[in-house]
Amino acid sequence: MPQLIAGNWKMHCLAAEAVALAQGIAAGAQGIAAELLVCPTALHLAAVAEALHGSSVAVGGQNCHQAPQGAHTGDIAAPMLRDLGATWVILGHSERRLNHGETDELVREKTVAAVEAGLTPIVCVGETTDQRAGGAETEAVGWQLAGSLPKPFTGVLAYEPVWAIGTGKTATEEDVAIMHGFIREELVRQFGDLGQAIRILYGGSVKPANAGSLLAVANVGGALVGGSSLDPREFLAIARAAQAG
Ligand code: PEP
Repeated sequence: MPQLIAGNWKMHCLAAEAVALAQGIAAGAQGIAAELLVCPTALHLAAVAEALHGSSVAVGGQNCHQAPQGAHTGDIAAPMLRDLGATWVILGHSERRLNHGETDELVREKTVAAVEAGLTPIVCVGETTDQRAGGAETEAVGWQLAGSLPKPFTGVLAYEPVWAIGTGKTATEEDVAIMHGFIREELVRQFGDLGQAIRILYGGSVKPANAGSLLAVANVGGALVGGSSLDPREFLAIARAAQAG
């Protein structure tokens, strides 16, 4: 399976900028063996999906509600994302867990809702600075894996140490090898043989300069990219460093 390089555009770009960014990425995507995905704000999904039409770049949401519809002011349902052209959705990103109090149980419910709507979820896990400083990083990620994934799970995992997101600090290849190995063991324990095939992305200050070495680590199935996904040259350089599988 090819590696997946996913861009999380977070709360960046006005509409015209998002379309230009999507066009820039689509223009350079030919010949790249990795699977490519961009996740703009939901407001720009339709425009970005249109800009990417006919290219090899998929589009996804950054969050969804756990209900398919209803009285939830300001929220966005998974079928609405699908309706606008999304085929993926990021769930349980640490910024949502920390800023919006999202629990493992809620992430699990959202994951079920996403799959029911025909979206492939990317479920994020990762330890905080304090958890790592206290030597509790695998325990923390273990709890998140146990609580956030429905059975069966048809999606992708993203390991994103919170201390590495947007900080310029990257986990070492050894850190990544240990954690991705642990996650693989947990996925196999929870899902049997199916757990072997689940892609595990690394996220946290992935840049063109470190992408090649991080993407070559065992059990790394791609990257979830924040800051560097906002520049087509950087995002495409990361994608070119990915493995065809
Ligand atoms: C992210 O937010 O998912 C992320 C990995 O951000 P950055 O690449 O900027 O660290």
